[in-house]
Amino acid sequence: MKAGVFYHPDFSKKGHITLRHRVEPGFNALHKLIQSKKIQVFTPYIDEESNQLLLQTHHKEHIARVQSTPYHEVALLSAAGVMQAAQKLACRELDFAFCFVGSAGHHAGYNYTWGFCYYNDAAMAVNKLRSLGIGKIMIIDVDPHSGDGTRDILGKDPAIIHINYHGDEEYNYADHERQNFGILIDGADDKVFLQAVDGYLQQQWDYEFLIVILGHDGHGQDYGDFYLSTAAYRQFAVRIKEFAAGKPMLFVLSGGSNPWVAAEVIPAVIEVFTESALAVP
Ligand SMILES: [Zn+2]
Repeated sequence: MKAGVFYHPDFSKKGHITLRHRVEPGFNALHKLIQSKKIQVFTPYIDEESNQLLLQTHHKEHIARVQSTPYHEVALLSAAGVMQAAQKLACRELDFAFCFVGSAGHHAGYNYTWGFCYYNDAAMAVNKLRSLGIGKIMIIDVDPHSGDGTRDILGKDPAIIHINYHGDEEYNYADHERQNFGILIDGADDKVFLQAVDGYLQQQWDYEFLIVILGHDGHGQDYGDFYLSTAAYRQFAVRIKEFAAGKPMLFVLSGGSNPWVAAEVIPAVIEVFTESALAVP
């Protein structure tokens, strides 16, 4: 598989104060994969297109509010990287991409946000993919907090499948006719999480492109309400690789603040997509 990582040093320098300390350790832990040329590194950039897609995805009042915070530029740079990864995957220059970010995206709705999120990177990537003629997109969100912002922006489109694993009872919305699913697994350990993942991955789905929102705040040593081990993240990646074989796979970093968790989980996940054969579970 052709695997790419999108990373900018500003994510650790200018990123959200809770999220930024894990970025550089997570990236540095990839040095062996980079040295052995198993993954290619790309540097995101802001251009006219990223600004246009931002206006297409969020209300102008929301953008104005974010512009008054210190995080507008790093949030836009994060989303730009996700869009640039989506483009390379869409034209099959890459088969798998992992995007580092300086802020998160899945709590950013059309005209509101919370929880270290500013611009919805996945929704901006979806708008980019639609412009390339790719409309059937599956989003699997395994950050332990609910992807309410993504649902707010994309939930009305039945061509977008949104499978949202989380522990937030008050945000457990579902609308199966529009392919919106909420799986409440508050306090999940490895077994509960992987069983819940298998329950959906073993079904038949009609999609062309997969986006995974990966928060390592679901690790037992990080701040979310799942209690997963690094091995569970690896097993999740093994399942995704098999599930979406032959389709473009875009992983977007989400919550998580513990530097050593990032340095364990991120390479464990990416390594799966650089191995030629599937690992035996
Ligand atoms: Zn989270």
